Amino acid sequence: MLILMSLNAPRQDVNSVKEKIIALGCTPHEIPGETKLAIGITGSNEMLKKENFLLMQSVEDVVPVSRKYKLVSREMKSENTLININGSIIGSEELLIIAGPCAIESKDQIFEIAGQLKEMGVKFLRAGAYKPRSSPYSFQGLKEKGLDYLAEVKKEFGLNIVTEIVDQYTIDAVCEVADIIQLGARNMQNFTLIEEIGKTQKPILLKRGMSATVEELLLSAEYIVSQNNYNVILCERGIRTFENATRNTLDLNAVPVIKKYSHLPIIVDPSHGVGIWDKIPAMSMASIACGADGLIVEVHSHPEKALSDGFQSLSPSTFKKLLIKIQEIAPVVNRKLTLSRNENNLQLS
Ligand code: PEP
Ligand code: MN
Repeated sequence: MLILMSLNAPRQDVNSVKEKIIALGCTPHEIPGETKLAIGITGSNEMLKKENFLLMQSVEDVVPVSRKYKLVSREMKSENTLININGSIIGSEELLIIAGPCAIESKDQIFEIAGQLKEMGVKFLRAGAYKPRSSPYSFQGLKEKGLDYLAEVKKEFGLNIVTEIVDQYTIDAVCEVADIIQLGARNMQNFTLIEEIGKTQKPILLKRGMSATVEELLLSAEYIVSQNNYNVILCERGIRTFENATRNTLDLNAVPVIKKYSHLPIIVDPSHGVGIWDKIPAMSMASIACGADGLIVEVHSHPEKALSDGFQSLSPSTFKKLLIKIQEIAPVVNRKLTLSRNENNLQLS
């Protein structure tokens, strides 16, 4: 249920509504909005009735929320959520581009790719220090050492860092360096972990589980937002289907579906969604065309030498060509891509 109050409702009236919600055994959530002050209610709804609130001071309307997820739904908040990360506004007209290798492999490797991406004007560097791999014999990441290299690279290039948390033991260490915490597909329904991470109030990139429905993704986001952390960026990264021509099936349907049902920003990871490097530019362009708020793309200075996901990693030159294409497509869907390095559009050298 959602209580709508006038924007200039006196604090005392707002507090009375919140106290009533608590007295009825539920939890109130003040939801930021431009035209109305909204108070969302979560918890067991059985005792709640519209009439409990309709006659209260400054209450304009009481609206039932029909979906299982509440706080992340458009019914609760009609305006898009905007997330400000060091001046980049995620969910706005400006596209979010996150790029970098699957994993940090060495100091030289991460410095080389960070320098190349910085030169192109990319503002967000992705790279995993803790790698959840399907096989225990695959490269598991440099762990703490990887975080140290990320901290150094951040200092050197001023890039925002996106890196994954895989368990509760490393939350503090990862938060120290990360500007966005990645919650991977394999942990999307690790509810205790996502709740813990939600409490940090850091921006979170929540990746869709490989066999999760859109509703399940939004319910996982609800766990984070119910910790009062609205800084959630959703990510479509491909789902498992019968099709085996590609690593996964990139479900771009999810983008307009999520845009309709949720106010949270959604970006696409075509790298894991497709798994084959030469198909990634096409699916990146399609992602932007269908309304995604941005992309996360694996880029490696030497894909043939990568310790993980080399086959789906773009070389810097292929990635640069893709960025130029995205700059061309963006205005068609009322978006833009500004690259920090150069005020003007990127030019092919
Ligand atoms: C990754 O981004 O490298 C990764 C492991 O992604 P996912 O969790 O989507 O598989
Ligand atoms: Mn990867």
